Amino acid sequence: MVLKYCLLLFTTLQFIQARKVVDLTHTYDKDVPKYPLGWLGLENFTYFKMDTLAAQFIDEMWIAFKKIEYYEHQGTHIDAPIHFGSGRQTLEEIPPERLIGPGVVIDIRNKVTNNSDYAVTVQDILDHEDEYERIPPNAIVSLNSGWAQKYPNANLIFGTENTSDPTTFHFPGWSVEACEMLLQERQVSVLGVDTPSTDPAQPPIYPCHIYLQTNNVPLLEYIANLDSIPPRGTTIVLGAPKVRGGTGGPTRIFALIDDDQEQEITSNSASRNFMSAIFAFMYLNVFRFC
Ligand SMILES: [Zn+2]
Repeated sequence: MVLKYCLLLFTTLQFIQARKVVDLTHTYDKDVPKYPLGWLGLENFTYFKMDTLAAQFIDEMWIAFKKIEYYEHQGTHIDAPIHFGSGRQTLEEIPPERLIGPGVVIDIRNKVTNNSDYAVTVQDILDHEDEYERIPPNAIVSLNSGWAQKYPNANLIFGTENTSDPTTFHFPGWSVEACEMLLQERQVSVLGVDTPSTDPAQPPIYPCHIYLQTNNVPLLEYIANLDSIPPRGTTIVLGAPKVRGGTGGPTRIFALIDDDQEQEITSNSASRNFMSAIFAFMYLNVFRFC
């Protein structure tokens, strides 16, 4: 019996080790870029506040905990559909199936070099598919503009000298035509950006947010490290908060790199998988009678 469980554990560990995990999350702290909300009458606004409630030894036992107050839509975060879709899903209503899916990264770094206001087009998506393959249904699709390198410098992130005025902002995003194509023809599950917003800063309107969120599509903003994963061959996992009534919140984003994309450990992972298969076969056909 012990042998059986040891073999099962070994097989499971082999499977886990076969995948490289990349963290696509900026660290969340007080230096997070702060999107101005004065246009909504929110002048004196707490973006982030962390208070230590306990950090001490009681006899020989250490105990620490804090209280955090934060704005939902900053740092690496998810927009629940209710953010721009009246009556649509709040955080806890997002189906878990939405939070895991094949990753697709569309590289627009060369398009934004001379145009910070670039909006990804339908043709960009078709060109990407020519190079790789058709985007599968239920994918988590992100654009990589290189903007993550600017984080957390607010002037660079928002592309302006005046970070209190959104009408001066410049950063890229998706065109609404690309969003319509991705939802209607590719059944995209979640759409992401490495910039502050799904919609480009100019003009300062939100057609992508409105269209996608009215159709219950969650969005991801300020994704990090997209340079560190391949355009295809990943599984994206979203650690989104499950806050009742929440419109969004800081989200840990992981990319699991599929075995056939993991170049560094190709031979090792192949041998591990072979051994895993052998042990799984032994477990299922021999040791279950132990
Ligand atoms: Zn947001």
